[in-house]
Amino acid sequence: MLGVVRIYNTLTRRVEEVAPLEDRRIRMYTCGPTVYRYAHLGNLRTFLLADLLRRALEFEGYEVFQVMNITDVGHMTDESSPRAVDKMLLAAEDEGLSPLEIAEKYTKAFLEDAAAVGMQPAHVYPRATEHIPEMIELTQRLIERGHAYVVDDGTVYYDVRSFPGYGKLSGNTLDKLRPGHRDLETDPRKRHHADFSLWKAAGPGRLMKWPSPWGEGFPGWHIECSAMSMKYLGERFDLHTGGVDLIFPHHEDEIAQSEGATGHQVVSTWVHGGHLRLAGQKIAKSAGNVVRVHELVDRGFDPRSYRYLTFQTRYRSEMDFSWEAMAAADEHVKRLRRRMAEWKEAPRPAELTEAGRAYDRRFREAVADDLDMPEALVVLNELVKNPDVAFGEKYALLCSWDRVLGLDLEREAREGFEVPPEVQALLEERDAARRRRDFATSDAIRARLVEMGFEVQDTAAGTVVRRRS
Ligand code: AMP
Ligand code: ZN
Repeated sequence: MLGVVRIYNTLTRRVEEVAPLEDRRIRMYTCGPTVYRYAHLGNLRTFLLADLLRRALEFEGYEVFQVMNITDVGHMTDESSPRAVDKMLLAAEDEGLSPLEIAEKYTKAFLEDAAAVGMQPAHVYPRATEHIPEMIELTQRLIERGHAYVVDDGTVYYDVRSFPGYGKLSGNTLDKLRPGHRDLETDPRKRHHADFSLWKAAGPGRLMKWPSPWGEGFPGWHIECSAMSMKYLGERFDLHTGGVDLIFPHHEDEIAQSEGATGHQVVSTWVHGGHLRLAGQKIAKSAGNVVRVHELVDRGFDPRSYRYLTFQTRYRSEMDFSWEAMAAADEHVKRLRRRMAEWKEAPRPAELTEAGRAYDRRFREAVADDLDMPEALVVLNELVKNPDVAFGEKYALLCSWDRVLGLDLEREAREGFEVPPEVQALLEERDAARRRRDFATSDAIRARLVEMGFEVQDTAAGTVVRRRS
């Protein structure tokens, strides 16, 4: 079945049907991580939005080709200040590693975290440092077309006044962009304070630098996404995603670059996700309130349960993270998996009943309606609770919906769980301790079981364990 998916386009400020440029094939670019530190749950919320959008499209029968870049050079601590430093070099200095080692370490960690939360891998992960020639070529093209200029030390600036559409994505048109207090630091060689660098001259002693027609230097941050998106997706493609903080200046500048170079619209639809906050503050390394995937695992949660948590808030809204909500989401996912294991043997219907079809329709409509996942969860929970729908039919529907949800709902049904004999002995020992109210021993055995990778529950029938995923 081929359906449609509607999504909010930041560019047009409307919810629109995703209409691929090429038949049923969607080309999608996702701004990826800057690999100078571990990804936090905020970053992952944004990447999970891209994953969800892709899954929603695939669910409706589209083929999606996804590119996610890896930023390993040029992302400065403060894009508007000439005194800013490259985040990669800062981390290299902090950790006593080379920039390449830093990039490798955090790219690997990112890919592991992405897999742990059940993200489908992108088809290509281009690295900025491996695309310097493409960025130089694009910069040259912009100079030739009158959109960029070179200053004395070989730095190249984009001339924002040469691009009439500047500001169309973010609303920050040039008449509104007044020089701020920061711009006291603005490079006086710029023609307009909003001009941004495409190429920067390497200062003395800089580690990461490359030869160019303008001397040794390194690329600005925004040019990598123009160069790599067009290299892998062509000069017109369908979807571009990122967090709301990337709308300006990153994506505004990407539009100026790509459209300046080609003379036409390149990206049809821009999709941006809201931020994740912790105790009312945006999660960020600089705020010191970072939570990582690793911490979820340490606390006994399945990282995939974090997906469920993100589904409870519309993707464009800000979302507050709390450990209570995380625990509830984890419990819910695990309960669904247990139900699936119970329903596994029930006879499956050859086709859906009318009630089943109605649930399926509502679920699909919710997902296709600008990814209304809170509503999709309402439908799911109604189905699970409905005593009039047969177990086999529930099982079939949840399997199908899990292609969008990515919660691995069949895990327990698939893998089952058999208690190994040495664990059985510990369970009996713990139950005996509890009967004689020796809670110190019972707690010690619980801790041992947790250490062995189990989740421990006290039930009327005694201690029950399941393998922690
Ligand atoms: P970075 O690794 O800093 O380049 O960021 C990777 C992605 O995470 C970008 O799309 C950002 O917009 C997004 N991001 C950063 N902080 C948050 C946050 N607190 N909540 C949601 N997304 C975020
Ligand atoms: Zn980008």
